[in-house]
Amino acid sequence: MAYDKENIFAKIIRGEIPCDKVYEDKYTLAFKDINPARPVHILVIPKGAYVSMDDFSAKASPEEQAAFIQAIGKVARDAGVSETGYRIIGNTGEEGHQEVMHLHVHVLGGAPAGPMVKRVEKL
Ligand code: AMP
Repeated sequence: MAYDKENIFAKIIRGEIPCDKVYEDKYTLAFKDINPARPVHILVIPKGAYVSMDDFSAKASPEEQAAFIQAIGKVARDAGVSETGYRIIGNTGEEGHQEVMHLHVHVLGGAPAGPMVKRVEKL
């Protein structure tokens, strides 16, 4: 899928719309989800134009990839959920139910995550 520069996270990166930022470095930005599903609900995104993890892992530089992983861990530590536990979610594409087409990882914590995912009838 081609990257759409007008997606809402691209606008956040460009500073065109605000976000509740919790972390930023040269390659990565993290901010609170506008519609939180848990007491801790943070989105971690690369600043580069990548739609998905498969896109990012194929095209991003080693520095960008390292920064992204490190930011996810730092955000979890700083939010205080390292000890209690948390869930990382990366919705991707149509069947993954991705709404914003810029790579993002959800970091959810502060309350039990519940079952991993509802099983489909037929596997
Ligand atoms: P998904 O693409 O389904 O993995 O989820 C997109 C997430 O982005 C949802 O949890 C939304 O609540 C969140 N979201 C959408 N717009 C904003 C925004 N302007 N600031 C923060 N979070 C947002």
